[in-house]
Amino acid sequence: MTAPTPLIAGNWKMNGLASSLGEAQAIAAGVAGGKARVAICPPAVLLERMSRALAGTEVLVGGQDAHGEDAGAFTGDVSAEMLADAGARLVILGHSERREAYHETDALVGKKVLAALRWGLEPIVCVGETLAQRQAGEALPVVIGQVRGSLPPELAGHLFSVAYEPVWAIGTGLTATVADIEEMHSAIRATLTDMFGASAALIPILYGGSVKPANAREILHAAEVGGALVGGASLKAADFLAIIHAL
Ligand code: PEP
Repeated sequence: MTAPTPLIAGNWKMNGLASSLGEAQAIAAGVAGGKARVAICPPAVLLERMSRALAGTEVLVGGQDAHGEDAGAFTGDVSAEMLADAGARLVILGHSERREAYHETDALVGKKVLAALRWGLEPIVCVGETLAQRQAGEALPVVIGQVRGSLPPELAGHLFSVAYEPVWAIGTGLTATVADIEEMHSAIRATLTDMFGASAALIPILYGGSVKPANAREILHAAEVGGALVGGASLKAADFLAIIHAL
């Protein structure tokens, strides 16, 4: 079984205006020759414009969340069908900011994964422990529980990735040590193999949490790291490209 094709995805969170599309185009202009698939996940209102601006380039566009239902009375929410209609090819689901701020459970994330599959979106499913959980020695069981609870069996045969993002490393400048990343990614790989069989070897396991040009090479070359989910450093083309080319 060959290694998964790496994926490097930028999560713009609630950042970016129409004037930021030039930054996305600069990223697209600089990715040629890179070894990873590259995606940018802008705010939903920018999706359609970004997918038009990046048409014909190697950079994919993705959503940051999707509702578990396809349509209905859900004020302010966006469905997977709407994301696909706007040009998205991927969607981040279960990000810790949503698990925390919107009380998203593993079961809800699993429902969103099914919605994404209905509309042909490639899910990037996020998992990760809090600092308190790590300090209590619970990081491994917490994360493995999230993997088992958030990934429905229907994912078998579909393109998807898992992003390990220790909550305490997101947006803080702190990163997990390579040893901690490798330990967690190996445990996630073993769990995916238990759940999906030998084909799990092809599922990219991304690392996320303050990935930046200065630490990208070390992280991206760690065992079982199949790419990165990048927040802050994906907003600037020069930084994001430096990460992409660190692979
Ligand atoms: C993220 O939001 O998924 C993330 C990893 O953010 P940052 O790179 O800014 O820590």
